[in-house]
Amino acid sequence: MKVFKFGGASVKDAESIKNVFNVLQQVGHDDVLLVISAMGKTTNALEAVIKNYINKSPGLQASIQEVKKYHNQILLDLFDDEGHAVFSAVNKIFNDLESFLKNNKSPNYNYVYDQVVSQGEIISTTIVSEYFNYQGLKNSWIDVREFIKTDNTYRDALVDWEQTQKRISKGIKKKNLNITQGFLGSDENNFTTTLGREGSDYTAAIFAYCLNAESVTIWKDVPGVLNADPRYFENAILLNQISYREAIELAFYGATVIHPKTLQPLQRKEIPLYVKSFINPLLPGTSVSKGADLEPQSSCYIVKKNQLLVSLSSLDFSFIMEENISEIFGLLHKYKMKVSLIQNTAISFSVCVDDKFGNFDELKSILSKKFKVTYNEDVSLYTIRHFTDTSVDAVAKNKEVLVKQISRETLQIVTTDLE
Ligand code: ASP
Ligand code: MG
Repeated sequence: MKVFKFGGASVKDAESIKNVFNVLQQVGHDDVLLVISAMGKTTNALEAVIKNYINKSPGLQASIQEVKKYHNQILLDLFDDEGHAVFSAVNKIFNDLESFLKNNKSPNYNYVYDQVVSQGEIISTTIVSEYFNYQGLKNSWIDVREFIKTDNTYRDALVDWEQTQKRISKGIKKKNLNITQGFLGSDENNFTTTLGREGSDYTAAIFAYCLNAESVTIWKDVPGVLNADPRYFENAILLNQISYREAIELAFYGATVIHPKTLQPLQRKEIPLYVKSFINPLLPGTSVSKGADLEPQSSCYIVKKNQLLVSLSSLDFSFIMEENISEIFGLLHKYKMKVSLIQNTAISFSVCVDDKFGNFDELKSILSKKFKVTYNEDVSLYTIRHFTDTSVDAVAKNKEVLVKQISRETLQIVTTDLE
């Protein structure tokens, strides 16, 4: 079996969905599992709904209507017949969502978040599956929540591999076109969980691992994995072949083309990963596989924006030793700060972190009891893999460098923009 993942941009409107259909016609759809994300920016739009709901904002209804209208337009563009069952199927998903919001008593924000935001994927797969049927391409719609089991860490759930493996081995039919949702799972009480933003790539890898799939293909609006994000760097070039190791490093440092959790399960079973263009599906794109000889010849540039550089020093000039460091890490973990760079001297310790969940204020007040805390907000972390003097100069130009760190293959600088 092959696993294909189509992200939000590939199903953002009727034209794009028709294109997915065409891609399958060109590359084949037998014995394929399609993992699909929410359409376009739906996840963000549902996040706005959740915010309005939690804040009891009068804008709640309007924000739901917006999501409804967006999907309804796509339905009207895809199906000639407004009596088609898909219209009422999608309508029912919205009705269920509204009654959930009306009846919910849980004050747990993250729980509410997952129950609501997940509907984006449920809707997108319902529409795509029905559209393919409508075009004569028979397929099975699969509720991923019956297969991917997780703990109940809502918004960042941990996969229960044993349960998941059992269910996938037993329940997924080969020799068929299967369509399922990315990003979602369910906990032991069958409440919906999510695997972290942009988690659909990871879903594809989980299925591939459990199915011993032949390969995974992530279909993108770029030609493959580039050596730099074209939004921030000029002259980005395509990397034809890279090793799992290189891909893991690039994803870890923040290359958004592949979700960082995706590679480990694939690497363990040596399942190749292809990153290809859904605009030119027959081009080879990038292949990620085993092999130390697959290191890129050119420098790779990655930038993470909106980072926080936090420096801690002891209040009494005592050393920051293992004890303190493990306590600091314990707190960073507890407050879900993703650490992307660490640097320490005798009496100070700096970390560059991503405060994804907005917990820094709380953490800061705890740390301040023991350390002098200084920080810079809104800094950028640049990582250059396979750096050269010229590549470093080009990146550091017009920026104030706050921290610089060099290892054999990787150079990182934390900067603020001077312009
Ligand atoms: N729809 C989810 C998100 O936007 C998952 C994904 O796209 O991978 O985060
Ligand atoms: Mg998305």
